[in-house]
Amino acid sequence: MSGRRDARSGGHIVVGNARENNLKNVSLRIPKGKLTVFTGVSGSGKSSVVFGTIAVESQRQLNESFPTFIRNRLPRYERPDAEVVENLSTAIVVDQKPVGGNSRSTVGTMTDINPVLRVLFSRHGKPTAGPSTKFSFNDPQGMCPECEGLGRTTALDLDALIDDAASLNEGAIRFPTFAKGTFQWQLYAESGLFDPDKPVGKFSKADREKLLHGSGFKVDRAGRNGVYKNEYEGVVTRFTRRYLKKGLDSLNEREREAVEQVVTAGPCPVCRGGRLNRDALRSKISGHSIADLARLEVDELIGVLEGLDVPAAKPIVRAALAALKRVSGIGLGYLTLDRETPTLSGGEGQRLKTVRHLGSSLTDLTFIFDEPSVGLHPRDVHRLNELLLALRDKGNTVLVVEHDRDVVEIADHVVDMGPGAGTAGGEVVFEGTVAGLKRAATATGRRMRSVPGLKPGFREATGALPVAKADLHNLKNISVDFPTGVLTTVTGVAGSGKSTLVSKVLPRQHPDAVVVDQSALGLSPRSAPATYLEVMDPIRALFAAASGEDAGLFSFNSTGGCPQCKGRGVIQTDLAYLDPVTTTCETCEGSRYRPEALAHELRGKTIADVLAMTTDDAAEFFADEAAVAGKLALLSEVGLGYLTLGQPLSTLSGGERQRLKLATRLRDTGTVYVLDEPTTGLHMDDVDRLLGLLDRMVDAGNTVIVIEHDMDVVRHSDWIVDLGPEAGRHGGEVVFEGTPEDLLRAKGSHTARCLAEDLD
Ligand code: ADP
Ligand code: ADP
Ligand code: ZN
Ligand code: ZN
Repeated sequence: MSGRRDARSGGHIVVGNARENNLKNVSLRIPKGKLTVFTGVSGSGKSSVVFGTIAVESQRQLNESFPTFIRNRLPRYERPDAEVVENLSTAIVVDQKPVGGNSRSTVGTMTDINPVLRVLFSRHGKPTAGPSTKFSFNDPQGMCPECEGLGRTTALDLDALIDDAASLNEGAIRFPTFAKGTFQWQLYAESGLFDPDKPVGKFSKADREKLLHGSGFKVDRAGRNGVYKNEYEGVVTRFTRRYLKKGLDSLNEREREAVEQVVTAGPCPVCRGGRLNRDALRSKISGHSIADLARLEVDELIGVLEGLDVPAAKPIVRAALAALKRVSGIGLGYLTLDRETPTLSGGEGQRLKTVRHLGSSLTDLTFIFDEPSVGLHPRDVHRLNELLLALRDKGNTVLVVEHDRDVVEIADHVVDMGPGAGTAGGEVVFEGTVAGLKRAATATGRRMRSVPGLKPGFREATGALPVAKADLHNLKNISVDFPTGVLTTVTGVAGSGKSTLVSKVLPRQHPDAVVVDQSALGLSPRSAPATYLEVMDPIRALFAAASGEDAGLFSFNSTGGCPQCKGRGVIQTDLAYLDPVTTTCETCEGSRYRPEALAHELRGKTIADVLAMTTDDAAEFFADEAAVAGKLALLSEVGLGYLTLGQPLSTLSGGERQRLKLATRLRDTGTVYVLDEPTTGLHMDDVDRLLGLLDRMVDAGNTVIVIEHDMDVVRHSDWIVDLGPEAGRHGGEVVFEGTPEDLLRAKGSHTARCLAEDLD
């Protein structure tokens, strides 16, 4: 069978002497129409081959094929650093970048199931409401006029925002940007309008009204250079204008989290969350409105549609069922069509994107996946595998970067990168079949051959961290005592409620818990490990001392920066409507510095040379400067020693970001850490290193709680909390609590079964 496909798709993708990032003249022949898995420790160069070379060149060649007129309006991709990249087909990258969108983009809109349901209702709904635009909450004709199709309204919770028992000086306005000392606080506390030491609850009626809603006059505010006149605006008015009017979607994550503490978001009183106007909601099929259907979990919706007795609607229903079954088939049957896409996890988003492509009949494409097993319980990995194989069998080439043993197992072809990370990697250490990989003397080969057993003993808890009556999302009013002073892993199938319990409810009940997540670092484009770890200042001081120049000369943010690119090393060109285009600055050749700065050396290295060092190498270079070396060593401890000091943080993957955040908290003691899938992006060898790190944190007196699917982590934990038994409405309960050893004997737990299977 592969012979036919091979003939049609033409043999191999050929890569010759690729040198992108750390690649050392990598040459490869990747069979087309086959499933190839790329393995190797993190930082070894997998992404540099797959994304940095193959996907980029495919996109570039595709753009070149357009007429100049269109081409000039497309993002320009720089030719990757490789002598040969040939025989490509159009590449589609399916990654874990958040699906994004806003509250108007839902599982139903993203999977194109909503349009099918709209056709169903416009033709068969009784009473008829009209054409389908009438059933779209994104269309003025269909949307509920009260909430404009959002399904909910947000209202300020005054009791949460204002602490009546406290005075302004004691922080009565409970919002970070109104905290004592801020400009907005001065507006009220130092205006002379109110007694700043009087509890707000004791204000006269008139004063309270002025504080909350006052307007139309100016107040004095003391500033650094004298007194300013400012237009007065009451707390509620100001807060509403700044944070609520524009919609929560327009806020950054930190603002949104803060705002969520002081607002109550409720279903829209008019449409009751249905998002549509009265006409659309009145139109029903077998008693269900279109909004009723969107509220059902996909698996239930399949049941309802299969039971519909409207013969004339059969063809439309069949189309909807086909799409819904693809969603269910990949283990997302617990989602509802009205679920907003920004609330999906990276793994859920990636699987939904895949489902969309499965429905298309295009062939001869190259699909590229970045660790598609993320977020998936081992019980469900086979479903992912079936999906990948289905894409291949439609005549596509499938390239997958993956660490999960069960996914590697189904590869037609394996490319193992290594041997190490960064400069110690960048080579192909094995290429061939899975059987061959298992015999290979590489880190991946070794890990494919042997599975570690349970650890011999488990730590005793020093106390308990209670989470009581958790009922958010699907949680069924559960209470869990998390043991302190040990490593706990929370397990359960995707959608069972792990993140809801551990990343949402636990930090609400224990605000001092530190959630180390994979979200963006929210920093400027100039941020790099050196700035994040705060080692730039001492390094600049060393250069200044060695050269006799001002330290500013060694700052790319200051006088030392290349004037052309303003110290960015790259030039960004904004194109209306399109992604901005980034090219290396020709003046400084990407070094970020002006020539005067590069004329000076510290022990034979320029400041640009230092920024190009991996943090491991830099730790050695600065071994005598304890403060610098100490901070750099933290990155090694979290397995990021291969990052260069100057690598833009925007190029880091979610897992790398999470480990970088962890690095800066490593010296804490007595802290509760919460980590959602910290093994993301980690090779089985890297996982060992991560476990060593978590052990050291626990031994230093901390409590570590992780959400994980990786059985190596489960086996290594002191305590397991297993949620389930299934996902969504059928989950949200505690299935098991105890040691991994006891888990093996637990009944009704999918995790227990997978753990047992792994161990025999
Ligand atoms: P993997 O996918 O195996 O984890 P990568 O291909 O992402 O490895 O990284 C290989 C090496 O290239 C690492 O040392 C990494 O720090 C470096 N690297 C990756 N992306 C960039 C970039 N945009 N700029 C500079 N260095 C990079
Ligand atoms: P897990 O972490 O085990 O994969 P989650 O806690 O993410 O599970 O999800 C548990 C349930 O809560 C699922 O049914 C999921 O669809 C639902 N859910 C999660 N986040 C949200 C949200 N922001 N809005 C609505 N439902 C959500
Ligand atoms: Zn409404
Ligand atoms: Zn420049």
